[in-house]
Amino acid sequence: MHELSIAQAVVEIASRHASGRRVSKVELKVGHLRQVVPSALEFAFELLTDGTSLEGAELVIEDVPARGRCRACGRETVMRGFPLRCRHCGGMDLELEAGEELLVDALELDQELAGLATRTGG
Ligand SMILES: [Zn+2]
Repeated sequence: MHELSIAQAVVEIASRHASGRRVSKVELKVGHLRQVVPSALEFAFELLTDGTSLEGAELVIEDVPARGRCRACGRETVMRGFPLRCRHCGGMDLELEAGEELLVDALELDQELAGLATRTGG
């Protein structure tokens, strides 16, 4: 499953940045060309974070539309589906400028909870 390996990478990055602190939200930017199914990615994320400091964290997935320049007519075009075609002339010779990203854009750490965890008591 494609989404599982993506979720794995996301969890690795997030836990490295959080270094033990609880994570309440993970914001992802996913290019449209990655053809990620958000529900499948969310499911995989839940599965992988179960029992970790990322458990219960909200996963926010931002879909970045595919964008590029058409070599035939020279115009910028936004592509929302496949096959990738220029919106203006229908040309398929495109220079892609966006749509292939896959990155963890932001992390929200739950400072309060992290603080409480250090108060061990008797
Ligand atoms: Zn064109």
